[in-house]
Amino acid sequence: MTPTTHQLQGMADERRPASRAWLGYLLIAGAILVFSGILRPLGRPLVPYDEAVAEVRRGEVASAVVKPDEIELIRRGEAQRPGERVRVTRLPGVEDEPLVRALLDQGVRIEAKSAPSSAWMQVAIWLVPLVLINAAFFMMLRRSGQGAGGPLGFLRSKAKVYDRSKQEPVRFSDVAGVDEAKDELVEVVDFLREPSRYRSLGGRIPRGLLLIGPPGTGKTLLARAVAGEANVPFFSLNASEFVEMFVGLGAARVRELFEEARKSAPSIVFIDEIDAVGRTRGGLSAISTHDEREQTLHQLLAELDGFDARTTVILMAATNRPEVLDPALLRPGRFDRQVIVDRPDLRGREAILAVHARRVPLANDVDLGLVARRTPGMVGADLAKIVNEAALAGARRGAKEIGQVDFDEALDRSQLGLRRRGQIMTAEDRRRVAYHEAGHALVALALPAADPVERVSIVARTIGALGVTIQVPRDERQLATEQEIESRVTVMLGGRAAEEVALGQVSSGAHDDLGRATALVREMVTRLGMSRRLGLPALSRNVGAPMLGVIQEERTCSEETAREVDEEVRERLGEMYLKAKQLLVDRREGLEAAAEALVLKETLRGEELERIAAVSTRRKISVGSPSAA
Ligand code: ADP
Ligand code: MG
Ligand code: ZN
Repeated sequence: MTPTTHQLQGMADERRPASRAWLGYLLIAGAILVFSGILRPLGRPLVPYDEAVAEVRRGEVASAVVKPDEIELIRRGEAQRPGERVRVTRLPGVEDEPLVRALLDQGVRIEAKSAPSSAWMQVAIWLVPLVLINAAFFMMLRRSGQGAGGPLGFLRSKAKVYDRSKQEPVRFSDVAGVDEAKDELVEVVDFLREPSRYRSLGGRIPRGLLLIGPPGTGKTLLARAVAGEANVPFFSLNASEFVEMFVGLGAARVRELFEEARKSAPSIVFIDEIDAVGRTRGGLSAISTHDEREQTLHQLLAELDGFDARTTVILMAATNRPEVLDPALLRPGRFDRQVIVDRPDLRGREAILAVHARRVPLANDVDLGLVARRTPGMVGADLAKIVNEAALAGARRGAKEIGQVDFDEALDRSQLGLRRRGQIMTAEDRRRVAYHEAGHALVALALPAADPVERVSIVARTIGALGVTIQVPRDERQLATEQEIESRVTVMLGGRAAEEVALGQVSSGAHDDLGRATALVREMVTRLGMSRRLGLPALSRNVGAPMLGVIQEERTCSEETAREVDEEVRERLGEMYLKAKQLLVDRREGLEAAAEALVLKETLRGEELERIAAVSTRRKISVGSPSAA
């Protein structure tokens, strides 16, 4: 099984910067050479003082260099070690030093050096920064990827060129769920393949194409697909990379990039995350980066305007923050076509899952449609991760194929958090949680307008608390009828109702349920006109800045009406609770059976649950239990 790691990859592989790497190596090697030449004396062997004196007395030393803190002895050129130099540390503070005396006694030639070490220290002090600078240059060379050669190549374009031979190309078939955007780009690719066909009809392809959409929806992927399909040179650059520490560098990069692209036209230039440079001018940002960004942006605009109608260079860019873009970028003739890459809908999510599932062995029981239904709001990147997690879960299980259980596990992990390890519930709590969840589930099964139950589980999770009942809508709908909302609330109250019906006492386990149920009922009453008593008027509205995530509800009715709203909410909730309770009293045996099964197996799938509940209902009928009526 191959876990899908592709989402971690960046844009097309960069070409190795071989052309300039040698220069860096040369600099470093040179520095090392110089340095090691200077440091060599330090590397000479140090001999003990007494041995040195003995050596001198034996006449084995040819000459000596006396330095302030050490003496260098040059041994006589004997067969085994000719002219070897050794060091001896001088005795500190000894006037008439024995070694020096011995040297004089033996008539050895002595050379005295006053503080010679400070001389090379000075060189070193001067050299060390040089070496560091060299190293820094070298690193920049490596970072700057390919481009024109020369020692200052790092100043040039950092664009990566998509190399078809080095990498398996991304195809349009690898992108799913964003069909409108795909159609748009397929057209661009068509144009690049056969420009004459379009031109003969007087068509003009947009020169600037901006992909807009939330993170992870596949904008970069789409660009890579264009690169893979178009068969023309594809230059890509991440805008956040060219806002540099040096003012003016970004602009230089942009110029270089477009020069290259024009040289190899027809070609495509792709600037990812363009909001990094294309931000509205005059913001609050720090002055230096602000300047730099502005220059880069100016250059970009100049390049866009400078496009010759005949050169086929298409500029693509992507952003997930269109609201911060400088309006100048969006003027006609620049990024004149804006392509929305939106969150995928149900069908889109299923298609994306299918794309990623191609790479992994799937068991027959896997229902990608169900996975899609459980993932509203998720984008392509999230779904790729789910498939990857499922593959990992399968591997942990030691399975050869990924089953639905693995997808369940992956979804639970992302939506409910990790399983909590160890025994965190007492047997009594477990039983209560089992009744509570079985209650939600049975009420959901009993109400035709409620979403089908996919699974019930009493596995404690870091997010999903002690237990969870997962309902999955049959289809993704934008609207909910009054009956559906009521059913939803009734299901929410089913947990508490079950505790009361089966155990006679309620617990603190329902506080989240109550909060959500109350909010929903309040909304029915104050916003949706679903209360006969209060009628149609909207009784509250949102105030505040949704962009900043602060939305507050403001009452738009009188004190008196507000009191009536409270009453109505209480009443409606009470009615729905009674209904939930009645449903469970009628299904008492089913409830017992389901709770028992849950305690035993921890997790029940929707079908299993239905079977368990149905069996007990049938038995109930056959025994002629009075509550069956
Ligand atoms: P964006 O650039 O919009 O933030 P990416 O293109 O980087 O998103 O998407 C990250 C990864 O998520 C992709 O490499 C791909 O694996 C997966 N992905 C995202 N959208 C899709 C999609 N529409 N179809 C298939 N895979 C997708
Ligand atoms: Mg991206
Ligand atoms: Zn509950």
